Amino acid sequence: MDANQRKAMQGIIKETLSNLEENGFEAAYVNDKAELNTLIRTIIPEESLTASGGSETLVETGIMDFLRTKTKYTENRILAYSASFYLTSANAVTMHGELYEVDGRGNRVSAMLFGPEKVIVIAGINKIVTDLHAAVERVKTKAAPPNCIRLGKDTPCTRTGHCVSPSFSSSHLSALGCTSPERICSNSVIFSRQNVKGRIIVILVGEEYGY
Ligand code: SF4
Repeated sequence: MDANQRKAMQGIIKETLSNLEENGFEAAYVNDKAELNTLIRTIIPEESLTASGGSETLVETGIMDFLRTKTKYTENRILAYSASFYLTSANAVTMHGELYEVDGRGNRVSAMLFGPEKVIVIAGINKIVTDLHAAVERVKTKAAPPNCIRLGKDTPCTRTGHCVSPSFSSSHLSALGCTSPERICSNSVIFSRQNVKGRIIVILVGEEYGY
């Protein structure tokens, strides 16, 4: 991204942050992973009970190292619902201030929906999309296929590199097409206007992370 693209991106980030706040999320922006790590350490006291939903972003930014070494981090999916802080990333963040999350078993999206006291969503600027249609497309073309490859899933996209289920339509969100028992796109959740204001904190990072 050159200087002009970066400047244009600033407007998109500003609008996205404003709409996230309008929708009841807490929203913040950091320039890079160094700033992110500083911010996370101000939000999460050491020894807090923490958990996470599988995320390349958390690994790439070094946040997983912090969770594992400085907090009481649990891998237990049931205990995760009692965590003080649950960390994950977004499959897409719309400029309208929504989060779009797609999950296989549902443990990640369910913990985001209810349970942990605070949820922290960390997303690189590559996750920002214009709207929900673009969010669905992003998952099908950029997020799910590499995630299936990373997880060693036996799914059509692992072999073809793209999703074989239909794209967004008003009648369904792609239950057709991919019939693999190892399918990771089983539960799609849109986080829109929040009742519990500030429970979910969205931190946008001015770099590209994850899928
Ligand atoms: S629905 Fe199936 S083929 Fe499509 S991205 Fe998800 S796992 Fe891959």
